Amino acid sequence: MKEQLTEEKVFKDPVHHYIYVQDQTIWDLINTNEFQRLRRIRQLGTSYLTFHGAEHSRFSHSLGVYEITRKIISQFERNGYPDWPVGERLVSLCAALLHDIGHGPFSHSLEEVFDTDHEEWTCKILLEDTGINRVLREVSEDFPDKVAAVIQKKYPQPIVVSLISSQMDADRMDYLLRDAYFTGVNYGTFDLERILRVLRPHKGQIVVKESGMHAVEHYLMSRYQMYWQIYFHPVTRSSEIILRQIFRRAQELYVGGYVFEWMPAPLKGLLHNQLSVDDYLKLDEALVQTVFMQWQEESDPLLSDLCDRFLNRKLYKYVTIENPDETLLNEISECFSSIGMNPDYHMEIDFPFDLPYDVYRPDKKEGEKREKAPILLLLGEDEISEISAKSDIVRSITGLHQGQYHLYYPEEPLKESVHLLSEPLKKLFKLE
Ligand code: ZN
Repeated sequence: MKEQLTEEKVFKDPVHHYIYVQDQTIWDLINTNEFQRLRRIRQLGTSYLTFHGAEHSRFSHSLGVYEITRKIISQFERNGYPDWPVGERLVSLCAALLHDIGHGPFSHSLEEVFDTDHEEWTCKILLEDTGINRVLREVSEDFPDKVAAVIQKKYPQPIVVSLISSQMDADRMDYLLRDAYFTGVNYGTFDLERILRVLRPHKGQIVVKESGMHAVEHYLMSRYQMYWQIYFHPVTRSSEIILRQIFRRAQELYVGGYVFEWMPAPLKGLLHNQLSVDDYLKLDEALVQTVFMQWQEESDPLLSDLCDRFLNRKLYKYVTIENPDETLLNEISECFSSIGMNPDYHMEIDFPFDLPYDVYRPDKKEGEKREKAPILLLLGEDEISEISAKSDIVRSITGLHQGQYHLYYPEEPLKESVHLLSEPLKKLFKLE
C-alpha cells in the first residue's frame, strides 16, 4: 500500500476554492496520460455554443467530484460514525476521481450515433493495459476490479456506490455548481457546505439529517432549474443535432465507400466500430474539431455544409410543434424535397425527454436503465423517509414537466424558396 504524500498537494479551483490531495495513489492517477486527456474533453459538450463560458473540462469536474467525496468521507471519519465502513476511503476516492475517465469527445452525441458507452470505456481503461491500471495495481492486484465495481454499481458495499451514484451524489453536486459557475447563471447554486454537514452513513446508505431538508430542497430546485435552463436549452440541442448529423453522414459515406481527403486512424476505427483502447484515448475534442475543419473541404456537399455549420455556429432554427402527426410531417418533408433540401438531414423532431438527464423522481420505473437511490431523510434516531413524502416543494417539482416538440431545420434554403411554400407552412416557419 502506498503512503500518504509527504507534502499535501493543492489545486486552485473556482468552485471548491482548493482541492486537496494527500494520497500518493491519487496524485499518480492525476498524472497519468489518460487523466490528463480529460483536459481536452469539455464537461458540457456543445453548450459553449450557447453559453460561451462553458469551456470547462471533465478534468476540473473529475477533481471536483473527488474533492466532494473526500470531504464527505472525512466528515464521517472525524465523527467516527460506526455505519461508515473503515477501509473504503481509497477505493471511494479513486472511483470518484475516475468515474468519467471513459468519456469521449462530445460524449452524448457520439454515443447516440455509434452506440458506444462511456461506462464500458471507463472499465476498459481501468482494467486493460493503461497508465491508470498500472497505478491502481500498485495498491493491490484486485484494486482495479474494485474501482470498476464501484463505477458499475456492483460493489458489495452499497454506501460506497451511493457516494458517486445516487440522487444526491458527489458527481451531481459538483457538476451543478460547476456548470452554473461556468455558464454564468445564478440559479444553479446551493449550500454545499451545509449539505455535506448533514449527511450521515446509515445502514449501508447515505441519508440526510431531517434538519438538512431545506438545504436539500434548495439543491433540488437548482437542479430543476439547471435542467430546463441549461441542459435542455433548445440552442444547445440544435448544435447537438448538427454534431450527430456530421457523425451520421461521415459513417454513411464511409460505409458507402466514399474516399475521404482526410481521415485520421482513430476516427476510422470509430466509423467502422473497431476501436482499441489506445485509439479511443486518442479521440479528443481537439482532434474532432480539426477533422471538422478539414471536412469543410470534402467534396460531399452535405458533410462540408454540416461541418461549416458546426464550426461557425450556423445552427438550425427551430419551431415548436404542438402535435407532430404524420400528415404534417409528410407535408413538410415533401415541401423540403421539392425545394432541394434533404429531409433525412434537414428536418429533425426533438423532444428533450430523450436526453440521459433526469429531474428528480422518487418512484422507480421498471426497466429504467439508470436507477439511482432516492434521497432519504433520517427522522430522529432510526426512522427513514423519502424526501418527497416530507417536502411540499420537492413534491411539486417531481412530476413530469410538460415537454414540447421542436422541429429543427436550416432556415436559409427555406427563406430563398419562400414563394414556393404553402400558406400554413409559411405560418409555421414564421416566414410570412
Ligand atoms: Zn461526472
